[in-house]
Amino acid sequence: NMPVQEYLTHAYEQYPEKVAIHFMGKDISYKELYESSLKFANYLQALGIRKGDRVSIMLPNCPQAVISFYGVLYAGGIVVMTNPLYKEREIAYQMNDSGAKAIVALDILFPRISNIVKETKLENVIITGIKEYLTFPKNMVYPLIQKKQYGMTVKVEHRGINHLFSEIMKTASAKVEKTAFDFEEDLALLQYTGGTTGSPKGVMLTHKNLISNATMCDAWLYKTKKGEETVLGIIPLFHVYGLTTVLILSVMQGNRMVLLPKFDPETALKTINKQKPTLFPGAPTLYIGLMNHPDIKKYDLSSIEACLSGSAPLPTDVQEKFERITGGKLVEGYGLTETSPVTHSNLVWGERIKGSIGFPYPDTDCKVFLSGTTEPVPNGEIGEIAIKGPQVMKGYWNRPEETEATIKDGWLLTGDLGYMDDDGHFFIVDRKKDMIIAGGFNIYPREIEEVLYEHEAVQECVVAGIPDPYRGETVKAYIVQKEGYDVTEEEFNKYCRQHLAAFKVPHVYEFRKELPKTAVGKILRRSLIDEEVSKQN
Ligand code: ATP
Repeated sequence: NMPVQEYLTHAYEQYPEKVAIHFMGKDISYKELYESSLKFANYLQALGIRKGDRVSIMLPNCPQAVISFYGVLYAGGIVVMTNPLYKEREIAYQMNDSGAKAIVALDILFPRISNIVKETKLENVIITGIKEYLTFPKNMVYPLIQKKQYGMTVKVEHRGINHLFSEIMKTASAKVEKTAFDFEEDLALLQYTGGTTGSPKGVMLTHKNLISNATMCDAWLYKTKKGEETVLGIIPLFHVYGLTTVLILSVMQGNRMVLLPKFDPETALKTINKQKPTLFPGAPTLYIGLMNHPDIKKYDLSSIEACLSGSAPLPTDVQEKFERITGGKLVEGYGLTETSPVTHSNLVWGERIKGSIGFPYPDTDCKVFLSGTTEPVPNGEIGEIAIKGPQVMKGYWNRPEETEATIKDGWLLTGDLGYMDDDGHFFIVDRKKDMIIAGGFNIYPREIEEVLYEHEAVQECVVAGIPDPYRGETVKAYIVQKEGYDVTEEEFNKYCRQHLAAFKVPHVYEFRKELPKTAVGKILRRSLIDEEVSKQN
């Protein structure tokens, strides 16, 4: 029952010299991580950050993201993770919604932040360069003048002062005023939902939520050599999926994290080849990207033992191919931001059921309700998946009505449709909001996508319901073909007709070089539909 940051204190006390992070050729020990986090906390406290204050972190995966995360918690604050791809409008929305007082951001994002700072309650902007940490501690001061290389000036704003991360590391002391936390009630994180289906909401996650979820993953997922694992951190730490399964779990176990600031298949393959990670949480599009790299055979990927795939359905052929190539296990799991995020997964070393998200995690109850109610449906029948457990959020930040509509009698209604078989395996059919109603038929895009993924030419695909004046909606497939393939619409149509009832067969196909994705690699079906709607108008 220790607050999140106490696991870092524990790691430091137990094995200070062990490597906590490997980043771009540099190793950072638990001692260095702990001391840097305390310095950051000291600095935040000197700026006036106190218990409950929100501090945004807008960084890709890098040591500073980890230091800032623990620093904010040691200072007593609440972390607000902000996607570094956000533009001014989105940043301003999140800063205002969360009421963040300070932000730690990548230097190249500074112009975007300085444009909106006056519209927000931000008092302090702390900036850092992606490679800045690498020169630390030898050359801790990163001269202001160098920032001009990025075409930006660092200046004092009307009420804000801008600070350099490296200067903090140089000047701050590691003395921190200790904050008492209520493990069950106090927030560690305000995590905004991905916005796949609507405007992002701040999900309130407590210390208990995050620690419970990391503990469940620890118990269920890995037959680990705890403390001896190397965890590949490609999925963003600014999403709760990466935060829990890469960062919190790794520090909890005393593992080594290898962080990559962005997903590029070649760099990822080279890193696996060299750094020999054993654990690798990811998303289907990420594994697909790796396996379709033309030089995959050149790299040794045999260190990989266990991978958890979440955030979207994992096509079976992707799973099989990945396991064949690496010799490791790739299991599908399920979760959502509101549940810190993991609630189900298949067993890594045990029975795995094709197309299933597996079993609920220890301490996690899952039921299937008649959509929108808390009335259970019989096994095998499709309904709304509902979750009860210690990882379920406290609610949405400043949105009591939405909280009330989402958590009913202690059950979190996920908005996902699925069913449970007689053996207790759960299956996701689709999102309530993604279900297509065409000519009166209910059509689940996922079923069509699975058929398409079995076609040898399909690298990535997504199926969406686009507005249709006669049928209400019509089924459209967006497809990225593998290199060297040029399959026509007619051929896909013929193929789909062989495998799907006529009413499910896509009426329209569009071939693209890539598909829009969220930060964790989830295909943004909504933005494709919006594009279509604006084309039609
Ligand atoms: P928003 O909630 O704002 O629309 P989002 O969908 O990106 O954004 P997340 O919390 O990141 O929000 O995603 C959770 C959703 O991801 C789940 O509700 C579910 O629809 C989907 N998901 C996660 N894992 C799986 C899986 N294994 N199979 C199918 N869908 C999954």
